[in-house]
Amino acid sequence: MIKITGLHKSYHIGKNSLHVLKGINFNVNEGELVAIMGSSGSGKSTLLNIIGMLDVADEGIYTLDDNLIKDMDETKSAQYRNKFLGFIFQSFNLINYKTALENIALPLYYKGLKRMERQEIAMEYLTKVGLADWATHLPSELSGGQKQRVAIARAMVTQPKVLLADELTGALDSKTSTEVMDLIQKINAEGKTILVVTHEEDIAMMCKRIVRLKDGVIVEDKVVNQIKATTHV
Ligand code: ADP
Ligand code: MG
Repeated sequence: MIKITGLHKSYHIGKNSLHVLKGINFNVNEGELVAIMGSSGSGKSTLLNIIGMLDVADEGIYTLDDNLIKDMDETKSAQYRNKFLGFIFQSFNLINYKTALENIALPLYYKGLKRMERQEIAMEYLTKVGLADWATHLPSELSGGQKQRVAIARAMVTQPKVLLADELTGALDSKTSTEVMDLIQKINAEGKTILVVTHEEDIAMMCKRIVRLKDGVIVEDKVVNQIKATTHV
C-alpha cells in the first residue's frame, strides 16, 4: 500500500537547515496498524505529512497504492488525498458551528453527493463510532473522546484506503485514549490500513507494529501484537 525508499527532508530557516528525515525506508501493507513512535521533534509528523501528501520530500521514492507520488500540482495531489487518505488530528479540527452529523457529511459535499445521500451515509458512520444519538449536537456539547470519534467518522466517510492519525489521543485522558484506540483497532480489524503517530508507549502498544524514529532514521521496526483485533469487536 505504502512504499518509501531513501526519503530525505530538510527544513530551511534563514541560513540554517535542519535535516529531519535522513534516509527513511518504510513499507506498509494493506490491513496493517502501524505506530510511528519517537520523542518530540524526531520527525514523526514530518513523515506522516509526506505520506499524507501535505508536504513533499526532498529526495526519495514514495508510492501509494502503486501510484508514484511525485511532482504533482495542488489539484492532482488534492484528488489523491481525497481518494486515498483520511486524516485524524490531535485537536480534532471539527467545525464548531456544524453538528456532529454535518461535520461527518462535509467531505461528501465536496465529493458532490446529494444532501439526502450525504446525511444517510454520515449517519451510518456516526452509528459506526457509537454516536448515533449525538447527531444534532455541536462539538462544544461533546466530550473530547466523542469529538475524536466524530473526527474518525469524518476521516472514514469517503472510504479512504489509509487512515493517518497524528497524536490522536494527545488531548485525551488515558481512559478515553484507550477507548479511542479500541475503536481504531476495531476499524483496523474490518480491514482498514491505519498509521498512528504517537510519542506514548502504551498507545503504540495497542498497534500491531511499531516503527521507531530517532535522529531522522528508523532505529527499530517490530511486530508487537499478533492477536487479532477482532477479539475486541
Ligand atoms: P515530531 O512530530 O516527531 O514531534 P516534527 O516532524 O514535527 O517532529 O518535527 C521535526 C523537527 O523539524 C523539529 O525539530 C521541528 O522543530 C522541525 N520542523 C517541523 N516542521 C517545520 C517547519 N515547517 N519549518 C521548520 N522546522 C520544522
Ligand atoms: Mg508531531
